[in-house]
Amino acid sequence: MEPGEALLARYTESLLGVFGTPQRVLVRGSGATVWDADGREYLDLLGGIAVNALGHAHPLITSVVSSQLSTLGHISNFFTSPTQIALAEKLLQLAQAPEGSKAFFTNSGTEANEAAFKLARRHGGTDRPRIIALEHGFHGRTMGALAMTHKPSYREPFEPLPGGVEWVPAGDAEALRAAVDETVAAVIIEPVQGEAGVHGHPAGYLKAAREITRAAGALLIFDEVQTGIGRTGSWFASAPSDPAPSDSAASDSAPADSDPVLPDAMTLAKGLGGGFPIGAMLTFGEHASTLLNPGQHGTTFGGNPAATAAALATLHVIESTDLLRKVQQVSEHTARGLVGLDFVTEVRAHGLLIGFDLAAEDAEALAPAMVAAALEAGFIINATGPKTLRLAPPLIISVEQIQQFIDALPEIHRRSTS
Ligand SMILES: *Cc1c(COP(=O)(O)O)cnc(C)c1O
Repeated sequence: MEPGEALLARYTESLLGVFGTPQRVLVRGSGATVWDADGREYLDLLGGIAVNALGHAHPLITSVVSSQLSTLGHISNFFTSPTQIALAEKLLQLAQAPEGSKAFFTNSGTEANEAAFKLARRHGGTDRPRIIALEHGFHGRTMGALAMTHKPSYREPFEPLPGGVEWVPAGDAEALRAAVDETVAAVIIEPVQGEAGVHGHPAGYLKAAREITRAAGALLIFDEVQTGIGRTGSWFASAPSDPAPSDSAASDSAPADSDPVLPDAMTLAKGLGGGFPIGAMLTFGEHASTLLNPGQHGTTFGGNPAATAAALATLHVIESTDLLRKVQQVSEHTARGLVGLDFVTEVRAHGLLIGFDLAAEDAEALAPAMVAAALEAGFIINATGPKTLRLAPPLIISVEQIQQFIDALPEIHRRSTS
């Protein structure tokens, strides 16, 4: 038995089966490359699901976290630390937050959305019991975030969940307008729906959502857990930066909106710590920032010195290496390469969050077969549906590395269909 196979047998004996059997046992990583327990090498085009923004074992993250851990790693929220304060200031600055805006730190995306759910309840009280979310939206697996997640198979086994959540079709401003009135506490939107297969909204949708919620007195919450921190080629998908010059051939590579839209709250996590667990909720303006009073929410680990140091290092590298611009360039290159393949029917490139659909019969589960074939060929990718693949590589991935994958795709496709 190879070492990987023996470890997977032990995994099956000792770990809860919620993830199925993992694809490989990974032991080491560097940049956009990882190695498994049997010594095989893979190009990581998933980045720990949009988490490893700077790839694996980035020297600055490694040194900052280890030096922070050897100085002061955890302290509880009875105390604060210079890194926690600096990270709050930096995130508010990047989000161009107005006076009175605040940050709250968590350990994950779902926890950031739990905080946002509580914010919505505090805003709505009993007069505004409703929360509007989008069809195909994903917000996390804990009970509050799950209550806002659309997929029935994720939700229904755990009912009753916190009540009042309704779903409207994504990207449909008129449907949103019809649903939102004075009984709605909040509207929660992913600016690009990641788990749904990387679907942006039509131009002007986020702006319309802002106008609709403002008119009805409801909060607007953007879930940027997957899209935030440079993933889409700007700091936040809801605040696009100037696109890199290009002659884009992608079917849908333009940002949905070109003007920043400021919500009342924004949640972040995945890429924020560059692989170290940390999430955040930012609240914008005086009203949203004073809804949760002392004692009304908390966390033991959230925002500790080690996690906030990791996040500061991540933001520093993104900023000092002009990474947002590189993300846009590599995105354009990838989209052009994918659009040119005859078995690809649509490409949705939002920076380095890229979904693409495959030509396949309805009953066929081609995408999962391609994930398996890609792994055999040394590439880690992900299927979000039977015909849809997702890429979310480290933001530091090079054009040459992406090109290796595009060159290998026809053969991966051929092996998956024969
Ligand atoms: C991943 C994700 C979450 C949940 O984050 P966890 O860290 O897995 O709890 C929430 N919202 C969106 C949009 C996500 O992509």
